[in-house]
Amino acid sequence: METKVCTKCGRKFPATTEYFYSNKKAKYGLHSSCKVCMEEHKRKNFSVREMVGIAIEDVREGFEVGQKVKCTRYGKPSKEMSKTIKGKIIGKYPHHALVKLKNWKESFQYTDMEVL
Ligand SMILES: [Zn+2]
Repeated sequence: METKVCTKCGRKFPATTEYFYSNKKAKYGLHSSCKVCMEEHKRKNFSVREMVGIAIEDVREGFEVGQKVKCTRYGKPSKEMSKTIKGKIIGKYPHHALVKLKNWKESFQYTDMEVL
C-alpha cells in the first residue's frame, strides 16, 4: 500500500482518504497534512481572537465593507446580560455581514449592528 508522510507532524500513514482529506489539486489527490493535523489547524484558527468573523442577519442599508460598527449581543436569559463590542465590516452579503472583532470569540452570537 502507498504511504504518505504528513508534512506537519511527520507521521506516516496509508495514502488513503481515511487518513488524509482529499484535495484534487494535490499530488495523489490528498492533502499534504493528515486529518488530525487539519482538525488541529482548524480549531486553532477558530480561537485566534483577532480574526473572528461574525455573521449578522438582516443587513440593513448603509453598511459598507471597511466601516466600523458596534455589535450588540442580546443577553440570555436577561436583558441585563447584553454585551456590546466594536468591530469592522470585512464582508457584506445579501443576508449577513462579516465583522472582524477584537477580543471576543463568541462573536457569532452578536446580531445587531450600529454604524459608529
Ligand atoms: Zn499530521
